[in-house]
Amino acid sequence: MSEAGNVKVDGANQARVIAPGSTIGVLGGGQLGRMMALAGAPLGYRFVALDPVSDGPCGQVSAQIVAAYSDKDAAAQLAAQTDVITYEFENVDAEVAALLEERSYVPQGSRLLYTTQHRLREKAALEAAGATVAPYAAVTSEAELDAALRRLGTPSVLKTATGGYDGKGQFVIRDRSQVSAAYAELSATGAELVLEQFVRFQCEISVIAARSSNGETSTFPPAENIHRGGILHASIVPARVPAGVLAQAEQLAATIAESFGAVGLLAVEMFYGQDGKLYVNEVAPRPHNSGHYTMEACVTSQFEQHVRAICGLPLGAPDLRTPVVMVNVLGEHLEGVEALMLSPESAGSDLVRPKFHLYGKAEAKTGRKMGHINLLCGDVNDALAWIDEAGIWQSADKD
Ligand code: AMP
Repeated sequence: MSEAGNVKVDGANQARVIAPGSTIGVLGGGQLGRMMALAGAPLGYRFVALDPVSDGPCGQVSAQIVAAYSDKDAAAQLAAQTDVITYEFENVDAEVAALLEERSYVPQGSRLLYTTQHRLREKAALEAAGATVAPYAAVTSEAELDAALRRLGTPSVLKTATGGYDGKGQFVIRDRSQVSAAYAELSATGAELVLEQFVRFQCEISVIAARSSNGETSTFPPAENIHRGGILHASIVPARVPAGVLAQAEQLAATIAESFGAVGLLAVEMFYGQDGKLYVNEVAPRPHNSGHYTMEACVTSQFEQHVRAICGLPLGAPDLRTPVVMVNVLGEHLEGVEALMLSPESAGSDLVRPKFHLYGKAEAKTGRKMGHINLLCGDVNDALAWIDEAGIWQSADKD
């Protein structure tokens, strides 16, 4: 084992160990970077975020370089100030990623970003890993969309291959008369398009897998995810699916992480179909909203696990300590939640213990993720009742 500063290179497998005391650079300054920094600090790591907005969620708890993500001088500065670099969003500029890889240590690499930035590349890689995805077709014209819809049937979902998130860049086609409208709306984005058959699912689940730079793999218990208006509303853990399906989902996520050669976290979103099969919807090579429940409910949080994985530390135990429901706090919920935090209900009851996480964002816009609450409980039904009774989340019921 040779040692250079804080960086130890293990001759056997070339995995570098980034020792506690080192500095981790984060491309992006949002809530994921913030929670990563808050989880890495007790392990002795320092953080520098690169983000165009000063005093954002991450900048409030770390050092920061205020510059555009595409600013190559700023990227070089980040490389000079840090021992390892990670990112907290997927749409990292390819040239900046290449520059950082050349000048610094980016254990996650840029290959996985290239794959997951594009739905068609992602689906091909998932199929190569042995996963099942919903039947799909690439679409480059209205005539192709019409032909693909005949083959895949209705309902199907037309999606942009790049740039979509939180249900944006999607059009559910329920009837062939909608072909022109769907094509006009999504082709106007200029992005490539993909048509996917609509999976009739019993529920949506996700698994956060972690793979360290030395190849160790670990998975967190699957979360059952409830979306409203295309945005994650709540995650329920344990997911209410048969034990065999939970085990299968964890195994599938681990296989995908290994097949992709992932380092760090890989969030795998799946549909649990009415036919009893698991269909992978999409993957994200970063901490994920549906893994926030791990912060108090697991022995190791997804954020600590990510830091351990990219630094080459042994992975922490992912065991679930208690059932939990995570509920997101969007802009429209913030006032209610802040009032609740000041009320006697803030500490919860013997049945439900709320743990509040606010991200420190300046502006509370509708649909913007402002925080989340982890509701620790003995029975997830008590936590779901708590959400109903709080009277803060009703307005979106009609979505
Ligand atoms: P995505 O941006 O791909 O994660 O899609 C957002 C949400 O739309 C998913 O969480 C599902 O609720 C729904 N959805 C997307 N694609 C499909 C599909 N092929 N079948 C059924 N529901 C889908």
